[in-house]
Amino acid sequence: MDYTQGRGRILANVEVAPDHYRMEIEAPFVPERALPGQFVMVKVTDGLAPVLRRPFGIYTINEARGSFEMIYRVVGEGTRLLSEMADGVDIDVLGPLGNGFNLDLAGDQPLIVAGGVGVPPLFSLAQGLIGKGKKPVVIIGGRTADDLLSLDAFRAIGIEPLLATEDGSSGYKGYVTAIMEERLDDGKIPSAVYSCGPKLMLRRVGEIAMSRGIPCELSLEAIMACGFGVCLGCVVKTCSSDGSSEHDFSRVCCEGPVFDAKEIIWDEA
Ligand SMILES: Cc1cc2nc3c(=O)[nH]c(=O)nc-3n(C[C@H](O)[C@H](O)[C@H](O)COP(=O)(O)OP(=O)(O)OC[C@H]3O[C@@H](n4cnc5c(N)ncnc54)[C@H](O)[C@@H]3O)c2cc1C
Repeated sequence: MDYTQGRGRILANVEVAPDHYRMEIEAPFVPERALPGQFVMVKVTDGLAPVLRRPFGIYTINEARGSFEMIYRVVGEGTRLLSEMADGVDIDVLGPLGNGFNLDLAGDQPLIVAGGVGVPPLFSLAQGLIGKGKKPVVIIGGRTADDLLSLDAFRAIGIEPLLATEDGSSGYKGYVTAIMEERLDDGKIPSAVYSCGPKLMLRRVGEIAMSRGIPCELSLEAIMACGFGVCLGCVVKTCSSDGSSEHDFSRVCCEGPVFDAKEIIWDEA
């Protein structure tokens, strides 16, 4: 993996929705090499604790500014500390890490399905696809309207996302997968599906795509300590590559976070 550990500088750290922040970090070694779907590990304090960096998907890649953005939800101590970091402060960054999405898979009419904080890496994917002359259909879901991230950013690049919320506060009342299935039943068959979000959503998106023979890539999350393949804390079960065993273990940080849906063996619910 071609990554760098270095100092970045926080250009902005703004609350964009309740408990959700967008952080822009100047760290030219990331945008120089980053691909949609890759991630960074950032240290949330200059102090000793917490000692481990935290992983975040890359939301935008701004080569001209030498910066990238990420969007994160405050869920625990690390993200709380991150939300308190001020503009202009230095931050330790490791990246870009992992394997991104395969844009060559997209075909004529790619479909992007995003849930919650799964939106950020899919926005950089949408930008990448538009750069290749494709116009993806985008479905975004969350528990409530407040969880629907980056809608204006998608609109600014000419995409009007289809929305789903569990409580019906915005768009369709229900899951993103219901919109996906309805479109397929209407004969709107995508050439490829890309998805990132909660595990149950990813599993269902993969099942729907595979049942129709549609190529599908899923970006997984796992709790990880190092981010570069050493700690093995983030392994998931994947199909055996040579048939010599029941399954393989793949590291979300190195072989992922993006996997072909066909490779993943989901734990029993
Ligand atoms: C490749 C990758 C990309 C990610 N991208 C984003 C992103 O773009 N935006 C974003 O908000 N979050 C993202 N995450 C999740 C993010 O890393 C965690 O939410 C964060 O590390 C939690 O740190 P904390 O110290 O605040 O929480 P902790 O105190 O460590 O944990 C609080 C809660 O969050 C859960 N948690 C901790 N780490 C993870 C994790 N890696 N994945 C899922 N749940 C976790 C814990 O189980 C616990 O319930 C990503 C994770 C991975 C692996």
